[in-house]
Amino acid sequence: MSSADLRIGIGVDVHAFEDGRELWVAGLLWEGAGLAGHSDGDVAAHACCDALLSAAGLGDLGSQFGTDDPAWAGASGTTLLAETSRRLDESGWQPLSVAVQVVGVRPRLASRREEAQRVLSEAAGTPVTVSGTTTDGLGLTGRGEGLAAMATALVRRTA
Ligand code: MG
Repeated sequence: MSSADLRIGIGVDVHAFEDGRELWVAGLLWEGAGLAGHSDGDVAAHACCDALLSAAGLGDLGSQFGTDDPAWAGASGTTLLAETSRRLDESGWQPLSVAVQVVGVRPRLASRREEAQRVLSEAAGTPVTVSGTTTDGLGLTGRGEGLAAMATALVRRTA
């Protein structure tokens, strides 16, 4: 494998908290108000998708799973992640690893980090590591208005 066959990608996602919705983050269901969005609002899974698509040069979630496409309305983050990996494979790219960091005051990811990694890794078909951080009370994540996630991905050209 030549290094010319390797590509990195980046993905960022943000969703606002919204009462009355389930809270899905990193493929897991958590206590408390959920995240607004066309799908389940799973910022971690969505950032992973965008990082993989970015690495493979396949655009982003919006262009791959348009919000006006009823086929993906309400799709879970893990469903989108599995389908993203499938689309990479179809386009001649193999995901090698993904790292995602969730930014916000809740949920407390540390308590279920390994479980989250298992679920996301299974969906992506490649190792996904999960970490969390806060922003010292600053910004929309610090004020608890929403949740953000940033991800990087490494992929290899197979065709
Ligand atoms: Mg999103």
